[in-house]
Amino acid sequence: MDSRQWPCPTCGEDQDFVQPPCADGHTADGGECPEWICADCGTAVITGDAAVLPVAVAPARAA
Ligand SMILES: [Zn+2]
Ligand SMILES: [Zn+2]
Repeated sequence: MDSRQWPCPTCGEDQDFVQPPCADGHTADGGECPEWICADCGTAVITGDAAVLPVAVAPARAA
């Protein structure tokens, strides 16, 4: 499985990120799924471009 290292906002340090099985068809056309999860804590991040740091998926919560 492909993995990459990014600073995890939850762990507070660099962690390996792996791609969960894509259920949204991102890879259907040979593309890369933008979803990655921290292998340590499971925090999900989404990156539309591997060259940029992913943005943490903040929980949707009304103030
Ligand atoms: Zn996907
Ligand atoms: Zn983490």
